[in-house]
Amino acid sequence: MDDLTENQGEKATMIVEESGLDMDIAPESCLLEGMADPCTIVILGASGDLTVRKVIPALYMLFKNKGLSKDFLVVGCARTELGDDGFRDKMRAAINEDESVDNSSWQEFASHLYYRSIIYDDLSTFKDLKISLDELDKTYKTGGNRIFYLAIPPTLYSSTAQMLGKVGLSKEKEGVWSRIVVEKPFGRDLDTAVELDRTIHEYFKEHQIFRIDHYLAKETVQNILMFRFSNAIFEPVWNRRYIDHVSITTAESLGVEHRAGYYEQAGVLRDMFQNHMMQILALTAMEPPSLFEADRVRDEKVKVYRSLRPFPVDRLQDYLVLGQYGAGAIDGKRVPAYRDEPGVSPDSLIPTFAMLKVYLDNWRWQGVPFYLTSGKRLKRKLTEIAIQFKEVPHSMFRQTLGEHISANRLILGIYPDERITLTFQTKNPGAKVCLRSVTMDFHYDQSYEGPEFDAYEKVLLDCMLGDHMLFWRQDGVELCWSFLTPILQECETCGERREMLMPYEAGSEGPHAVKKLMADSW
Ligand code: NDP
Repeated sequence: MDDLTENQGEKATMIVEESGLDMDIAPESCLLEGMADPCTIVILGASGDLTVRKVIPALYMLFKNKGLSKDFLVVGCARTELGDDGFRDKMRAAINEDESVDNSSWQEFASHLYYRSIIYDDLSTFKDLKISLDELDKTYKTGGNRIFYLAIPPTLYSSTAQMLGKVGLSKEKEGVWSRIVVEKPFGRDLDTAVELDRTIHEYFKEHQIFRIDHYLAKETVQNILMFRFSNAIFEPVWNRRYIDHVSITTAESLGVEHRAGYYEQAGVLRDMFQNHMMQILALTAMEPPSLFEADRVRDEKVKVYRSLRPFPVDRLQDYLVLGQYGAGAIDGKRVPAYRDEPGVSPDSLIPTFAMLKVYLDNWRWQGVPFYLTSGKRLKRKLTEIAIQFKEVPHSMFRQTLGEHISANRLILGIYPDERITLTFQTKNPGAKVCLRSVTMDFHYDQSYEGPEFDAYEKVLLDCMLGDHMLFWRQDGVELCWSFLTPILQECETCGERREMLMPYEAGSEGPHAVKKLMADSW
């Protein structure tokens, strides 16, 4: 885990230069791809955590930044009886703390919010919803365009999609669209993912389905492709000849919080690896698509998933470390062990940490290990991709400096440090031959002061624009489940399940066993 701790050496200054091309483009023109169509966003599960914390704040910010059509509506649906005013008050109270909310724009935004109660297994409530939506369309000129956002427990995805279809809400006609947004997790293994897709497809066509992975919409994740394929100098060395290994890390300092019910069923492999980690892996390892267009990009990602070497489930300990956090301290504050968190079973065997060593069997990456690491309650919050280059093939300084010279390292910081750093060797000033590591450091927001879109704002906007670039395609989902399902089966059924789960202290860098797993590459 030295990705989390290593001092990157001295900092070198970096001057950001605008290219001639960049200077011709006003920053605002980079903000919006196009104007969203008038539409109604129907949020199912509108009384829940995701709606309150992510979806409504994102819609409000889009509204404030003029990213929405003036003819938009948000209709919240859930079992709870709330009413339009109750829904508006609940949403306002929930984002009250946010200093970017101002009263007058909120009042204007709130006048577009409506609420309809719904019972998920009662078709008549869906018929009522359709009648309501049709009436609202007439009043608000939303053109009949609709997004159905499933912010409900995953067990309800299939039946809810079918209810929407049965009452005719999935139907499209010339110039009028209907789209469905499905949150993660998309299935809990290969079979359930295939079945979920089959049921959604009974009423929705592929172009109507948006399988969300908000990680893909983070600016710095989108930047991976820009960085790799808009610069000529990195691609020639982006392969097995020059790269020793790649570490992709998503560390959280938070624990399971209030989501124990979900997490006890999921664990870290389903929660982080099947989706976010696999997407970052694909962006790091994929070949350049011929065009930056949704299906061409997704075709290349799928090729990466096809190259994944099947995981040696008979030798799990050589390729996988699983851990579960014990009690400890984060930022000086004592925090409980996972098993003592509310809603968690006292003898839970659910992993909160995993490191996987994976290989891609293709020309570019043969023999290069990719270490994928994710965990909760780690020392600090951090998402990054570390490209560790090979050492120089021959040290001409070996008489004075020995055989080993620290190899170059490129870090693409995704979060919270949105930056790119490149570490290299220079001569230390003085008469003696000495080297020092220095780091070129680019901060992503350097020389940019305009507004930015948060990940949920971007995915909602793209869904309104009908752009699938940042959404999963079903073949990718299935290939990733095909890779992970045997690992999950082995981990969840093998006799050594208890022994495989390494304890680690909250606030630490994870289980000690990760060092052994990485030893070959250091
Ligand atoms: P919640 O547990 O908060 O549930 C959402 C809503 O669904 C509730 O408000 C409730 O509304 C309804 N609901 C809950 N349980 C049931 C049930 N058994 N039967 C019928 N309705 C039920 O979920 P979240 O908002 O946290 O998550 C929603 C979806 O988004 C999930 O699939 C989750 O995996 C996914 N997700 C969530 C994230 C988050 O940060 N919260 C992040 C990424 C994905 P009511 O009782 O009023 O009907």
